[in-house]
Amino acid sequence: MASEIKLQLTPLSQWGFGFSDTEPLMIAGPCSAETEEQVMETCQQLAQHGGVHILRAGIWKPRTRPNCFEGIGSIGLQWLKQAGKATGLPVTVEVANVKHVYEALRMGVDILWIGARTTVNPFSIQEIADALQGVDIPVMIKNPVNPDLSLWMGAFERMNKVGITKLAAIHRGFSSHEKSKYRNKPQWEIPIELMRRMPNLPIICDPSHICGRRDTLQEVAQKAMDLNFNGIMLESHINPARALSDAEQQVTPENYARLIDSLVLRKTTSTDAVFLHNLEDLRDMIDDVDKELLAILTKRMHIAEQIGRYKLENNITILQPNRWDEIVRERSQAGIKEGLTEEFMFDLYNVVHKESIRHQTSIMNTSNQAHKIEVKG
Ligand code: PEP
Ligand code: MN
Repeated sequence: MASEIKLQLTPLSQWGFGFSDTEPLMIAGPCSAETEEQVMETCQQLAQHGGVHILRAGIWKPRTRPNCFEGIGSIGLQWLKQAGKATGLPVTVEVANVKHVYEALRMGVDILWIGARTTVNPFSIQEIADALQGVDIPVMIKNPVNPDLSLWMGAFERMNKVGITKLAAIHRGFSSHEKSKYRNKPQWEIPIELMRRMPNLPIICDPSHICGRRDTLQEVAQKAMDLNFNGIMLESHINPARALSDAEQQVTPENYARLIDSLVLRKTTSTDAVFLHNLEDLRDMIDDVDKELLAILTKRMHIAEQIGRYKLENNITILQPNRWDEIVRERSQAGIKEGLTEEFMFDLYNVVHKESIRHQTSIMNTSNQAHKIEVKG
């Protein structure tokens, strides 16, 4: 199993803005800077309502198709800086190329973020990293649009190599052509694996771009808190309905504050002796069940191998689609009856079946070796 990757990291509390390493870090602001008033009003209202540590605004907007609002450009940096001064809060913008980096640095932007469409491209990431060589600025990196953890991790390694140690990840979901209730599927297992592979890297959830709509923001933000994320980034606009980008997912500063207030923050651990004792008992039970599970799976695999040898003797293919379809349907139904989800049953049988095929293939291969011919050019 892939192991931990060591990054040189500066904890949030030492970024120089008074952030905490234990309290969630909250980032809010409009999807795009549109006018001086919109930026100032939104940021001032956010600061008044409270619950925000960093102000965000998109200045250059990566849009899927041309002729949409593509951002107000550099003038927006001034508006955001003014809003930062007026509220006493640090500000962050998205940078997608070297020109953006230079302009943001020239204007004194406090924190940079790299968007999902940039993280997919190692050339762009490397160019941004090279432009930041020797600069002491925090960089937050969104996941790539595709569910590729290595690309995401590679971006942190590239920043680290040029000496950037104030790093954070932003999870904004993964695009998919499948219809779903999300604009970008969260695929929580990917940020969870990032937490395991890069343990001290702060990771912030961006429910706005995951949900793409207001009514599910709270549920996703709460889930992120329950999964021990280090913060939340949410888009907020003084008049969401009139927003020039991402209108359906932005909330007013007042609703932002209500949403943040409603989040239940749970501790990662407790010092309560009774709680710890009971938890240990339950975990012992899980450990025992896992041992049984392993024994059962091994037993199943041995039977699959027996079947493999039998198929080999009788010259029968490994896969019989009808049998596989029957297993998937029957096991799913049985699982649903026990209160398990169809998705879980499908995933479970897929991995089990994949391993059976692997075992049966290696049995077939020993015989296939005998028929191997050398193919010459
Ligand atoms: C954004 O934060 O406004 C943005 C463009 O996000 P993403 O890179 O996640 O699409
Ligand atoms: Mn947006």
